[in-house]
Amino acid sequence: MQLLTYRYRDHTGPGLLHGQVVIPLDPSHGWHGSLLELVAAGPDSWKKVSEFSRSPAAAADGLPARDIEWLAPIPRPGKNIMCLGWNYSEHVSESAAVSGRQAEPPKDPVVFTKNVTSVTGPYADIPAHAGVTAELDWEVELGVVIGVGGRAIAREQALEHVFGYTVINDISARDLQFRHKQFFIGKSLDGACPMGPVIVTRDEIADPQDLALKSWVNGTLKQDSSTRHMIFDVATIISTLSRGMTLEPGDIIATGTPSGVGFARKPPEFLKPGDVVECEVEGIGRLRNRLV
Ligand code: ZN
Repeated sequence: MQLLTYRYRDHTGPGLLHGQVVIPLDPSHGWHGSLLELVAAGPDSWKKVSEFSRSPAAAADGLPARDIEWLAPIPRPGKNIMCLGWNYSEHVSESAAVSGRQAEPPKDPVVFTKNVTSVTGPYADIPAHAGVTAELDWEVELGVVIGVGGRAIAREQALEHVFGYTVINDISARDLQFRHKQFFIGKSLDGACPMGPVIVTRDEIADPQDLALKSWVNGTLKQDSSTRHMIFDVATIISTLSRGMTLEPGDIIATGTPSGVGFARKPPEFLKPGDVVECEVEGIGRLRNRLV
């Protein structure tokens, strides 16, 4: 299933995307609640929605996808987005080169978080934050949404805890990120976490470690890689995070970005008002956001 959260007239709620049609998941179709509540409701509820999605009733009542306002699939996560730093070796190399350091891939996953208030829609405008930052940068990433929580999740079972996958642009204010040492402020400005357009359920992604991911600025390709190049794969990330910390349904993990980000370019490139940044992960979709 491809699940989204949309606004249409005065209604906000989850929906199923079927091609160019959005099927509302609302009380008339047997679902009361948000997409986050559906994720938290567990596998029996997912199965019911999946059965509904294949029914004639679902096919009958759709809204044209062009008529809705697309929100992030989970517009207000229950906790901060957990993000991997330096999880692609070429990105480790390009980052090290900026400060003249020797590139050393991390021995253990590097994790930071983005504030929930940074989450924004897949096609929303992103504030430029003039006077706050002059160095907004892009980072296309595979997002993982946890479906079944747990602690001490074994690597071998880790993917069974995934609800689905989404696309995240981990927009980063590099000047703030480096000035404040810890990444949190530089990664958490309002609008700095475009997400979506959908969550694709786990059953529809054959191998999360074999997905092309790309980004563009004003139509020019900037990042072009594959999730097979992650240093720590999705299963290892889930297993590591859950070692002594309970993961919960609806938790979101951004799995790191490949090379091609702006600050590591020569000369460095940053987003400016009017720029359009696009981020795509194969089999999920493409974010498209304008800086304003
Ligand atoms: Zn990132």
